[in-house]
Amino acid sequence: AVPLVVAVSTTRAARHGLLIRDRAAFERARDVDAIVFDKTGTLTEGRFGVSEVVVLGEAGEDEVLGLAAALEGQSEHPIARGIAEAAEERGLSVPRADDFRNLPGEGVEARVDGADVRVVSPGYIEREGLEVGSERPGELAGQGRTVVYVVRDGEAVGAVALADIVREESRAAIDRLKAMGIQCMMLTGDSEPVARAVAGELGLDDFFAEVLPDQKAAKIREVAERGLAVAMVGDGVNDAPALVEADVGIAIGAGTDVAVESADIILVNSDPRDVAAVVELSAATYRKMI
Ligand code: ADP
Ligand code: MG
Repeated sequence: AVPLVVAVSTTRAARHGLLIRDRAAFERARDVDAIVFDKTGTLTEGRFGVSEVVVLGEAGEDEVLGLAAALEGQSEHPIARGIAEAAEERGLSVPRADDFRNLPGEGVEARVDGADVRVVSPGYIEREGLEVGSERPGELAGQGRTVVYVVRDGEAVGAVALADIVREESRAAIDRLKAMGIQCMMLTGDSEPVARAVAGELGLDDFFAEVLPDQKAAKIREVAERGLAVAMVGDGVNDAPALVEADVGIAIGAGTDVAVESADIILVNSDPRDVAAVVELSAATYRKMI
């Protein structure tokens, strides 16, 4: 039988827009010491607008953006949507891309006009040791812009800087959790300077940047090994293993199906402030049972 307080609390949870899939995890929520948030789409809007196109070789701005859009038309990443929309706004004719594939956590690849084209992260450029020959992309990253590079046959021909907005609700969420004595951290595949900018803006206690999708769960283990009970909040396909790894996995309701199905608790209203409600309701519910 379901104890009465739990039944009542589940109703209250529903009223707060919380969907509890795993009751034991909901009970553990009152004891969390640290909460790790995904960045894109969780703390930020996850809607990228192109703020600048940087030319690095022979190709002009429109050609760089058109090439990027050729690939991104086949990707579902929020970065992809921003690039595709910018190309459309500029009325560019976008070339055809064949043999498209995702490079998880690094970007995308396809063939365009017989060339191998990739749209990739700064981390990828570094690992491959590619020459960029311009300070501008680094400058933009330092301003908190997400920068991706367009690489054609192994040569960086341009870069696209995109801006995403920190959600208004995120600051309130972090302030409330910190006041409850909970450490707030961020986990992202985005570059170090971008992560630093967002972490500073929100007053986060710690952050992990340039984390490849298959390393996100390991980062959660790392936090747990500091002796902390940890919750993870995310929305993306690549957050799913981390949501499973955490003591409490919390998914943004508007997130991907994979994230929602991997989580213990779902924030139906997709509001990060409801993370504090999870902890408070858990404490209120299970205190009464002892
Ligand atoms: P997160 O969801 O934490 O922001 P991802 O693992 O999805 O991170 O992506 C990490 C990085 O990989 C992005 O910041 C970007 O540099 C690159 N990337 C991923 N997908 C794409 C894409 N479709 N186009 C260009 N770059 C991408
Ligand atoms: Mg995300």
